[in-house]
Amino acid sequence: APQIVWLRRDLRLADQPAFHAAAQEGPVIAVYVLDDEAPGEHAIGGAGRWWLHHSLESLARDLGKHGSRIVLRKGDAATELANIARESGAARVHAIRHYEPWWRDAEDALAKTVDLALYDGNFLLPPGAVTTASGEPYKIYTPFAKAVLDEMPPREPLPAPSTIHRPDSWPQGDALDDWKLLPVRPDWSGGIADFWDVGEAAARRRLEEWSDRVADYETSRNLPSVVGSSRLSPHLHWGEISPAQVWHRLHGRRGQGWATFAKELIWRDYAQNVIAQFPGYPRESYRKYDERKLWRHPAAGRLIARDLRRWQRGLTGYPIVDAGMRQLWQTGWMHNRVRMIAASFLVKHLLIDWREGERWFWDCLVDADYANNGVNWQWVSGTGVDSNMFPRIMAPLRQSEKFDAAGYIRAFVPELAGCRDAAIHDPPDEERGAYPTKMIGHKEARERALEAYRNSKG
Ligand code: FAD
Repeated sequence: APQIVWLRRDLRLADQPAFHAAAQEGPVIAVYVLDDEAPGEHAIGGAGRWWLHHSLESLARDLGKHGSRIVLRKGDAATELANIARESGAARVHAIRHYEPWWRDAEDALAKTVDLALYDGNFLLPPGAVTTASGEPYKIYTPFAKAVLDEMPPREPLPAPSTIHRPDSWPQGDALDDWKLLPVRPDWSGGIADFWDVGEAAARRRLEEWSDRVADYETSRNLPSVVGSSRLSPHLHWGEISPAQVWHRLHGRRGQGWATFAKELIWRDYAQNVIAQFPGYPRESYRKYDERKLWRHPAAGRLIARDLRRWQRGLTGYPIVDAGMRQLWQTGWMHNRVRMIAASFLVKHLLIDWREGERWFWDCLVDADYANNGVNWQWVSGTGVDSNMFPRIMAPLRQSEKFDAAGYIRAFVPELAGCRDAAIHDPPDEERGAYPTKMIGHKEARERALEAYRNSKG
């Protein structure tokens, strides 16, 4: 009997345990269900939809080489899969386990009507695999990372199935183009398309390139003007490559670069471990402040809404922040150090609720990830389960100089073309051209933030 593979953020054939098991048990019907209802505000954002389109196209091409395909459906995942199982007489649905709350609900609902086999494979270890001495899941990153490292390496990656048998007939499915995942008018995706190659083969190429450079990661990762990090994040998010594949390809590369990189991969597991415990985390603070006293809400006034728009469009007057926000808009990605600076600027310099930043990133990032985005925003704003970072207010101008961001600023803020390197972090009036002046001075913003913080603690 046919076997259904339910695809979500695991769009690959190699090291894909659900595919692997299904292909051994019978003919395979791979299914992707687009559900824009159940995730609510976390329906896939604009840049994510662009990526998803190309990733599904790429996987369908790879499956086509086996004479196979992906069946596309729109709607409630559990309902659609149960229907396909009934129509096709499938014996079982195979899927890699996911921890976003709407996917967990769908798994629970589906398991009531079909034989559902769930596998691990999108993380180094499944959430809950390591616990504290008292058997609790970890809340803090450092002891979590230590416990994960003790369990490494992860299991050996599985090969891609060598043959994938076709079912006698294919269930009805949508045409990918009819989903209209790509922007049309305006088509903002040109810069994203120039920056990225999508799909499993592209992810493997990126990993190969990175294996030559990971040794320098310890210093290169903080320098936005160079390609100093792996840029694997969208490939990992969409599951075009697994963390076990990344680990096994790189871990022979000794040195501090690899050790630091491994800890970043563990951050990804950590974030998943947090949302597995606190499913509403990307909206709900963990630390109990009086948030009404802390944040200025865009809905509360035109000026605040205007401030938010200036941040979104990269017009704050702080070149490092603006370069980052424009990199995000143009390429669907932002350098990690700059994500921290830009996020800190929104929540501390502008005192705007971190959820507004989370929303904007969710829509603009090709790697927008429920866990990674929510956990990192709460980390910056100091509202999360980990240590409280709110009073540590980043100085954007100093950060820009320290991490030598001149080249990066030139690449994304063309108004500053006439500005000297030495002045570009904080351009004086005569070198600013059409570039805006600072929305708020650093010292004033810092004092305002610390006072709001004191008040919010009651
Ligand atoms: P590398 O430095 O090469 O790291 C390798 C991999 O480790 C990354 O691809 C990623 O999967 C993982 N990783 C690295 N840093 C982190 C981290 N801090 N938290 C979780 N995983 C990490 N990352 C996302 O994947 N999706 C998001 O939506 C996202 N939102 C963020 C929002 C804010 C405000 C901040 C400060 C960070 C956010 N990050 C997010 C984390 C980080 O910035 C990106 O993972 C990283 O910049 C991706 O580039 P890279 O692949 O070159 O990373």
